[in-house]
Amino acid sequence: MISDSLLNSNGGKPSHMNKQQLNRVIDSVKEICARSGWRLTEKRRGVLELLLVSEVPLSAYEITDAYNQGTEKTIAAMTVYRILGFLEAENLVHKLGSTNNKYVACSHITCGYKHEIPQFLICGECQTTKEIACGGCPDEQEISISKSVIDELSKLVSQAGYTLMNSQLELRVLCHNCATSKA
Ligand SMILES: [Zn+2]
Ligand SMILES: [Zn+2]
Ligand SMILES: [Zn+2]
Repeated sequence: MISDSLLNSNGGKPSHMNKQQLNRVIDSVKEICARSGWRLTEKRRGVLELLLVSEVPLSAYEITDAYNQGTEKTIAAMTVYRILGFLEAENLVHKLGSTNNKYVACSHITCGYKHEIPQFLICGECQTTKEIACGGCPDEQEISISKSVIDELSKLVSQAGYTLMNSQLELRVLCHNCATSKA
């Protein structure tokens, strides 16, 4: 279980979610675990929680450092890589190619969503990342990209004689905060 110091070791930056929200997500993860028959070990949970509270994508090394600063137990970078691979396969975290393969926690863990290819808006200034809405999201203001847009892209790519290998969109944007502070 994540310690408060681990929660606060987020580089002193404001946390992405409070303890209550975090607990709600972890409860959903426990249900997913129970259904899929894998265990939410302390280390898996610690890695996931660090990503859940982070405003920005984190590399495996940044996660390793934060973990080791926040708890008495230490974790090896190799273990973090393995855990990230596992969590990624379960769609609980996603890897972003455009940020040098840093990771973000999935925004739809509590939505009961059968995950499709994730799509993202990534602020080019502060790296704040928004995963696009899933359809089951309670927040209707989230933007979503319909499957037909992705299908269309895929069709255009194949018409040009190429094969689309990864349809994960990572759109570079200016977030509201950065746009305001620039004005
Ligand atoms: Zn997701
Ligand atoms: Zn920004
Ligand atoms: Zn959702």
